[in-house]
Amino acid sequence: MAAPKVSVVIPVYNEEAVLPALFARLYPALDALAATYEVIFVNDGSADRSAALLREQFELRPDATRVILFNGNFGQHLAIIAGFEASRGERVVTLDADLQNPPEEIAKLLAKMDEGHDYVGTVRLERQDTAFRRSASRMMNAVRERITRIRMTDQGCMLRAYSRDIVDAINSCREVNTFVPALAYTFAQRPTEIEVAHEERAAGESKYSLYSLVRLNFDLVTAFSVMPLQLFSLSGIAIALLSLTFVIFLAIRRVAVGPEAEGLFTLFGIAFFLIGITLFGIGLLGEYVGRIYEQVRQRPRYLVQAVLEHKDAVSESPKQRQMS
Ligand code: UDP
Ligand code: MG
Repeated sequence: MAAPKVSVVIPVYNEEAVLPALFARLYPALDALAATYEVIFVNDGSADRSAALLREQFELRPDATRVILFNGNFGQHLAIIAGFEASRGERVVTLDADLQNPPEEIAKLLAKMDEGHDYVGTVRLERQDTAFRRSASRMMNAVRERITRIRMTDQGCMLRAYSRDIVDAINSCREVNTFVPALAYTFAQRPTEIEVAHEERAAGESKYSLYSLVRLNFDLVTAFSVMPLQLFSLSGIAIALLSLTFVIFLAIRRVAVGPEAEGLFTLFGIAFFLIGITLFGIGLLGEYVGRIYEQVRQRPRYLVQAVLEHKDAVSESPKQRQMS
């Protein structure tokens, strides 16, 4: 039998509280599609009962469920990529496990793809997150819009649909730190966006601390633009020229008016400003160098502990059956 029409990829990290509700809504929503499908759960090293719940669900619906169990916590985006590499559908939909993206909206994404789009992004209609998260992501959206060629309204929403071509292109990338929706966009030929509903997290807590959000946004920026580096060296030149003029001015003033002491603190202020800029610059360089280091090490990007799948699943392709 042929590959399924739709693969749904869901990263799962400590989501035991929400998984039963997710299963209860996801499968009926997909059954209503009238298309063959497979759901690929990627357990990103959860420390709770998530893996056990996924195993139970796999046993309930082995025909349409596949589970990849990671050996540790490699992050949401690498979990999605592992799902992509395992996926066989003509179209691949990504979704968060926490029910913030209603599974009922998948039908809308697929309908939009029927119009000939290979990438369907989404904009959350009434985003149900804290005011801090909302304003921070507005800011990051604006930064990304300016410094990359990626055009999307709401980069944070993971409910998205991609064509097989885009998923294959992503699978051929070897980068370690990445941001899937943006990477996919760079390969899209006819991208579009639709509005989708957004709900509060059904249960459990956000898996992103402030620290990991900052890391994620550095991934987004550094993976798609070297503009921060360029901007830094340009402003470095401007600042150096300005301080040179200032030094010349002070030298002339010393000869003409005599030495000054009152301006000492201004000078301190300026010096600290420059030190600040320098430190930021070194840190920014470090961000890129760190990523180069990770890339050249060529370590495996993630480690799979086990894969739960049915060898005679409906969706298995004849070629794969011969191989197994
Ligand atoms: N997630 C993951 N690995 C991580 C962090 C998150 O697989 O290290 C998954 C998580 O289980 C969820 C999705 O990524 O399915 C989005 O996470 P979350 O809802 O906590 O993020 P938020 O909605 O707060 O941005
Ligand atoms: Mg969430």
